[in-house]
Amino acid sequence: AAKKAGRNRLVWFDASMERALQARNAVEAGLRSGIPNGEIVPYYEQQIDLATGRLLGFEVLARWEHPTRGLIPPDIFIPVAEETGMIGDLSLSVMRQAFEQARGWDAELSLSVNISPAQLKDPWLAQKIVKLLVETGYPARRLEIEITESALFDDLDLARTIIGSLKNQGIRLALDDFGTGYSSLAHLRALPFDRIKIDRSFVMSMAENSESAAIVTAITRLGDSLGMPITAEGIEDGAIAAQLQAIGCHKGQGFHYGRPIPIRQVRTLLAEQALLPSGRAEPAAPDD
Ligand code: C2E
Ligand code: MG
Ligand code: MG
Ligand code: MG
Repeated sequence: AAKKAGRNRLVWFDASMERALQARNAVEAGLRSGIPNGEIVPYYEQQIDLATGRLLGFEVLARWEHPTRGLIPPDIFIPVAEETGMIGDLSLSVMRQAFEQARGWDAELSLSVNISPAQLKDPWLAQKIVKLLVETGYPARRLEIEITESALFDDLDLARTIIGSLKNQGIRLALDDFGTGYSSLAHLRALPFDRIKIDRSFVMSMAENSESAAIVTAITRLGDSLGMPITAEGIEDGAIAAQLQAIGCHKGQGFHYGRPIPIRQVRTLLAEQALLPSGRAEPAAPDD
């Protein structure tokens, strides 16, 4: 009986692996046409000055607007794009759209874009990003690049060279999802980071979990000592926003301030706050 159960389990496992493989292949095939067709688009999540409530900019988050399947989140397609070597094209496509959409916004607003580990193996990455900035007219000093801790394992020398070229252009660098990776503190010195983003798992649990609150406080102090400002992600309510502000955390994002939204809704939001270029945000003068 044990043998039979074992065999059944194996059969079930095979079937579920088969389904997973088919789903993955469908994602891969879909991406091959979807990336050049512009189906992967930027969504924007507000980043807020916690002390004043002022809008500082947006994190750019990729979404797949699939013609038949609807909106697909990045956890489904980013890993497949990474494994199949399509992440570079995907990322540049999303960045190009975001730079074109954001170039006319208020000069104080910045964009944060996510870069995958695999992209730091492309010796031409910096040149490609600089070319996009030149072609779209989006200024380098309003761009921040986010790299997660796991990105820092492979070819550190090449990563350093790429990051050095980007920083020479005035692009800033943030360490994303800080505190979740292996030997987080070592990563802080691996690359010249300008900012630390505390992983949302600590922020989301800080109201009910005093250890999480202590960790967020400690990371904020660490950032202060190192001259690296902190962004807290995953702020879901006002109580946590107030707690972070009391700790002295500078910048935050999360569903409390707004979910990631498409460009149409960003334009509405910016018009309400008069952050579009004056020609578009204000009514034309009578003698125009
Ligand atoms: P991330 O860079 O850490 O992005 C933050 C994620 O947290 C986003 O998920 C965002 O929607 C979610 N989030 C923000 N605020 C809250 C909140 O208050 N509560 C909760 N529960 N979640 C919140 P999303 O958009 O699903 O992205 C997941 C991850 O996919 C991102 O994590 C990033 O690592 C990756 N990703 C997204 N777009 C790109 C991209 O263009 N390129 C690369 N390489 N990775 C991307
Ligand atoms: Mg990020
Ligand atoms: Mg993050
Ligand atoms: Mg993440």
